[in-house]
Amino acid sequence: MTTPEETSLPAAYHAIDEERVEVDAVILGAGIAGLHQLHLLRRLGLRVLVFDKAGDVGGTWWWNRYPGARFDSESHVYQYMFDEELYKGWSWTERFPGQPEIQRWTQYVADRLDLRGHIRFSTTITSAVFDEDRSRWTVRTDRGDTVDAQFFVSCAGPLSAPLENVFEGQNSFSGDILHTAKWPAEDADMTGKRIGVVGIGATGIQVIQTIAGRGRHLTVFARTPQYVLPMKNRVYGEEQQSAYKARFDEVSSTVPHTFAGFDFDFAHVWAEYTPQRRREVMEELYADGSLRLWVGGFADLFFEREVNDEISEFVRNKMRARLGDDRLADILVPSDYGFGTRRVPLEDNYLEVYHRPDVELVGIRDNPIARIAPEGIVLSDGTVHELDVIVLATGFDAGTGSLTRIDVRGRDNRSLAEDWSRDIHTLMGLGIHGYPNLFTIGAPLAPSAALCNMTTCAQQQAEWIRDAITHVRTQGATTIEATKEAEDAWIEHHEQTAAATLIPSTDSWYTGSNVSGKPRRLLSYTGGVGAYRQKCHEVATSGYPGFAIT
Ligand code: NAP
Repeated sequence: MTTPEETSLPAAYHAIDEERVEVDAVILGAGIAGLHQLHLLRRLGLRVLVFDKAGDVGGTWWWNRYPGARFDSESHVYQYMFDEELYKGWSWTERFPGQPEIQRWTQYVADRLDLRGHIRFSTTITSAVFDEDRSRWTVRTDRGDTVDAQFFVSCAGPLSAPLENVFEGQNSFSGDILHTAKWPAEDADMTGKRIGVVGIGATGIQVIQTIAGRGRHLTVFARTPQYVLPMKNRVYGEEQQSAYKARFDEVSSTVPHTFAGFDFDFAHVWAEYTPQRRREVMEELYADGSLRLWVGGFADLFFEREVNDEISEFVRNKMRARLGDDRLADILVPSDYGFGTRRVPLEDNYLEVYHRPDVELVGIRDNPIARIAPEGIVLSDGTVHELDVIVLATGFDAGTGSLTRIDVRGRDNRSLAEDWSRDIHTLMGLGIHGYPNLFTIGAPLAPSAALCNMTTCAQQQAEWIRDAITHVRTQGATTIEATKEAEDAWIEHHEQTAAATLIPSTDSWYTGSNVSGKPRRLLSYTGGVGAYRQKCHEVATSGYPGFAIT
């Protein structure tokens, strides 16, 4: 993997004085959203500067290079679809490719669209302050840059603020502690080591199934059980690549209008089927080896407790049959929340890993991790698990953390970190009252925060932001800001839509319950990608009601 590091700002940028550079827009992040946003704003003729803490493009796919990291969206859908040639110029080699190939794809996109000259890597934005008198943002970085910009667009990604300082005593550990989102580029040598993995979310599952057998012994510390679905990966040769590329028109026109931005949508209605037919359909969806059973089958599972109970039991039975062991099932098979109300991970022989003699499963629901000691992990009852490497697959401060870890100041010097510590609010996940000319992709209260194939949602939001900026400029205006009334109305709509589903009552990063003290609010808009897109379109085509443009 290449890690080019730019050390100076591109020469094309206009220096206001010795210390400051002036641009039209600063973009935070050169991942999936940031690359597309940069491309769109460049095409408007704007001077745009992108900062990214990472050493190269890719965003989440640059950071999350832990063993086993791969899509669980199908590759032909996890794509940019705004440019047919760009789409067809890349050939995925698997149905669900791994991180190295995904990283190469983001490099291909950056090179093909000639974006690198506008990106400064290995640079962290430390503050962004809105100057009301000048209606401009001052963005500062850890490399001493000061950039003056009309617009500040956050493409930070909803899952980019890792939870890495989780346990007391972490610094005392005599071995290595690795968070999955900060995996070393040269990988970690696990030969002969006793490895402990904390966390069995989508990340933990991929790590566990991949590293089992690499070290001397693997201990998995599992708290909340997780519904899992088997992934059926396939190698793509020329024939499969040509076949999916031939569907470009169909896929690019349907995917943006589905519930979750995939190449499938809810296709079945529970009440219309006999019990036997329901069972057949569940088996078919399960056998597809994708996320279809979750977001491409019965929408009812999100709304009707009885339907959810039956589908949950279907998945539980599949898991129990594979585990074939009551103790393992007791720790790994969920019983107190419904299927699909947390993110459903795909896995590949993950449950079978626990049958290996060199893998130990430790349930920590009733006996949590108390601290980390020099020799390993200590549980509340005093049991010590001696380890050489601890892998923290402990997740993220999702949706908000990427921005609250920066000092973002809006009108009246208000702090976004303080605002969101009281109440998480946005208007459609695109703008925030009190923060003029700040746009966000992947922020709370839009599908992109959690319930969406990210490329589908990121493209739609990037295009909406491009259009909003165009509108402001053609009006001869200087600022655009979400109004308090519109934001409150959106929150109410968001809450009502969420309350109709079973999701808000389940604990996970979806509701912010994984971060102590975080206000509980479902991060993702649950009205669906297609419906959300339509609402955004209506706002844009009716002159941006809900946004004050001055
Ligand atoms: P996550 O879903 O939040 O899982 C974190 C895990 O760490 C959970 O098992 C959690 O247990 C555990 N944990 C956290 N703090 C703990 C503590 N103090 N003690 C014990 N256990 C603790 O995070 P993630 O697995 O990184 O996944 C986040 C999201 O990233 C996914 O939901 C998905 O959207 C995305 N992702 C996508 C892919 C893909 O597309 N292929 C792959 C990986 C991740 P509790 O559940 O009990 O809190």
